[in-house]
Amino acid sequence: MSAPNKSYDPVEVEALKPENIERMRDEALAAFDAAADLDALAQAKTAHAGGTSPLSLANREIGALPPQAKAEAGKRVGMARGQVNKALAARQAVLEAERDERVLVEEAVDVTLPYDRVPSGARHPLTTMMERVADVFVGMGYEIAEGPEAEAEWFNFDALNFTPDHPARQMQDTFFVRGEGQEPGSREDESGIVLRTHTSPVQARTLLDREPPVYVVCPGRVYRTDELDATHTPVFHQIELLAVDEGLTMADLKGTLDHMVQALFGPDMKTRLRPNFFPFTEPSAEMDMVCYVCRGASVGNPERPCRTCGSEGWIELGGCGMVNPKVLVACGVDPEKYSGFAFGFGIERMLMFRHNVEDMRDMVEGDIRFTRPFGMEI
Ligand SMILES: [Zn+2]
Repeated sequence: MSAPNKSYDPVEVEALKPENIERMRDEALAAFDAAADLDALAQAKTAHAGGTSPLSLANREIGALPPQAKAEAGKRVGMARGQVNKALAARQAVLEAERDERVLVEEAVDVTLPYDRVPSGARHPLTTMMERVADVFVGMGYEIAEGPEAEAEWFNFDALNFTPDHPARQMQDTFFVRGEGQEPGSREDESGIVLRTHTSPVQARTLLDREPPVYVVCPGRVYRTDELDATHTPVFHQIELLAVDEGLTMADLKGTLDHMVQALFGPDMKTRLRPNFFPFTEPSAEMDMVCYVCRGASVGNPERPCRTCGSEGWIELGGCGMVNPKVLVACGVDPEKYSGFAFGFGIERMLMFRHNVEDMRDMVEGDIRFTRPFGMEI
């Protein structure tokens, strides 16, 4: 067995010859310089600085050298690898900076472009208005009551004291679904079906359903055979109020109406009642409220005319009255013990004067350009 080769010359190892190490280093530096982007640089890194690159392979040869040759070869290879790594890092930094600059330009956001988000919608102002009015009464302890839109003729007319020959029953006012010309005055189960012409049948249903005291508010859609034009629509909305209890009087009705207009239009609003006739209330009244725009200041004052009230100082809001005892009897309520008041008005009309909507067709056409300005209100 021979002794270790003490005079081993590292130059004898081909990969460790100084000129070869220099060539490997120069090739690496040239490859990094030539890399035009980060992908190319990554490839060059694998080829010239990775685990199987010529310099790494040469580095492995050092371990086999005799001790005295190791230091010199190690220094040479180490220096070359150091230069390669430094050049790699420098090139990497340059290419990353270029990329970042390019991204800033290519992916810049043009804030002047029109935005493509879906705009938020709005609830229909009729719905909002109806709920707002109902809320006023719910705040006073009333409950919401609802009924069918295709209603028995008996509920729509007979129970509410519409006589058999009342003109409202005629075809020109009422949509008949079934049983046109049926014997007027027939009971609920044998009466015809109409699209309800008012929300008042809900009163009769409520009174048949429960024992007094009854405090309900009935918002809903109603139908009449009107042509659609600027001031008429065959489908519109009403809100109706019914209170039946012991000892209720017109004073309670007036106080309730005053509270409602104050809640909706402001604290110093007032109402007035004018005599009228409805079959289902006795006495009946037309109810006006002070014009919330001019507060009456336009009356007799041609210098300050008011478009909202036509310079009359009052706005007609709806009909009301004490529930006719005949209605109470028809609904099984003892008129000797109980009395009640009722009140109803059209939501469309209130929306028109409250928001200066001049054409009723705008409310039914479903154009979001009309709806959106009212905004979102829940
Ligand atoms: Zn006015």
